[in-house]
Amino acid sequence: MVVVGAGPAGLMAAEAAAVAGARVTLRDQRRSFGRTLLLAGRSGLNLTHDEPLEEFLGRYGTGRELVESAIRAFPPSAVRTWADELGADTFVGSTGRVFPAAMRATGLVRAWLGRLVELGVVFEPATPWTGFDDASERTVLALGGASWPLVGGDGSWVAIFVAAGIAVDPLVASNAGVEVEWSAALLDRFEGTPLKNVAVSIDGQTVRGEPTITAQGLEGGPIYALGPRIRVALARQRVSLEIDLQPDLTEADLAQRLAARRRAKDSQSTWLRRAGLQPAAVAIMREATDNRLPTSADGLAALAKAAPLPVRGLAPIDRAISSAGGVAAAEVDETGMLRRRPGTWVVGEMLGWDAPTGGYLMQACLSTGRRAGTAAAASQVA
Ligand SMILES: Cc1cc2nc3c(=O)[nH]c(=O)nc-3n(C[C@H](O)[C@H](O)[C@H](O)COP(=O)(O)OP(=O)(O)OC[C@H]3O[C@@H](n4cnc5c(N)ncnc54)[C@H](O)[C@@H]3O)c2cc1C
Repeated sequence: MVVVGAGPAGLMAAEAAAVAGARVTLRDQRRSFGRTLLLAGRSGLNLTHDEPLEEFLGRYGTGRELVESAIRAFPPSAVRTWADELGADTFVGSTGRVFPAAMRATGLVRAWLGRLVELGVVFEPATPWTGFDDASERTVLALGGASWPLVGGDGSWVAIFVAAGIAVDPLVASNAGVEVEWSAALLDRFEGTPLKNVAVSIDGQTVRGEPTITAQGLEGGPIYALGPRIRVALARQRVSLEIDLQPDLTEADLAQRLAARRRAKDSQSTWLRRAGLQPAAVAIMREATDNRLPTSADGLAALAKAAPLPVRGLAPIDRAISSAGGVAAAEVDETGMLRRRPGTWVVGEMLGWDAPTGGYLMQACLSTGRRAGTAAAASQVA
């Protein structure tokens, strides 16, 4: 049988099928395998998340039905055991995210490819998939979404699927940053700086966390989590995020603290820092007021609790962490096999589920890959 696509979903499908006794050929359009894992590992390879399974499954929203049986069969605890057996030595970070001890993916990918070779998997790099072929070979397609086409997929499979009469929801950016027109002064000092412990809001939804200032705008968990709401708002109107730069204090408490900590000789920046506002937060306040900060403690407190940040748009899909959209649930059976093309399975981000960052993406790719690899191997033997 053939597995096409050597990201996490395809590698896992190949492993599961080979373990089940199938002779597996693993193809990818690229010359080397596992490149999306290596990219993900640059910022810490978040393999899965440590939390009760019911909560975990809730992260997939309306796409839950596409991944639930796969995750129940190969849950987060099994991913950890699997990774540990590859020498990853996983640990649970303070927010429940699970990482390999080395944080990066290099060692895990090397060990994983070595295991596949030992299992007899044949590698065929630089071999693009260009369409359904009518040969009778069992095939698992693991071509990914359309984010980061430089290392992963480019979504060109969508047109081929649609032409074959298979319903696919359009691929759109998910877990994407927002674009902000920063002043040169802010970027000069704060590009790459996280805004520690802030709360970001839009249209009544608030998410706390640590977004990072980038040349294009803001990236990171709270921005990704607000993505769907930002996308809806942008379709209607100009959009501003509201940033609470001191979410642990009420506005009145912050105003009181500012009033109490003022020293006659202090610059405004020093005064704000004395009241606990980090330098990047002060820069956001300056940005929001065109560098005309209020002079009173009350005015500064009001601004720090709700600094408006105009957003130009969402980052394009080729800069997003993942893609929403994909093959519709009605098109696949409970193992991920295409109903219209028996003998062809679809796994990973090609399927139409979506989830936030936090290890949920990798987990769904690994679990759906394993489910399809196992099913494909069994059907080959039968
Ligand atoms: C910067 C970054 C950091 C991330 N960090 C994390 C993280 O820490 N934790 C997490 O859970 N998720 C993370 N993700 C998301 C995660 O990497 C993806 O969800 C995951 O890689 C998707 O897996 P996949 O196997 O479905 O597809 P992909 O990993 O995209 O793999 C698809 C493979 O198919 C190949 N391919 C595509 N089209 C063809 C074709 N026509 N012919 C042949 N081969 C083809 C591609 O070359 C690629 O190798 C991150 C993503 C990015 C961009």
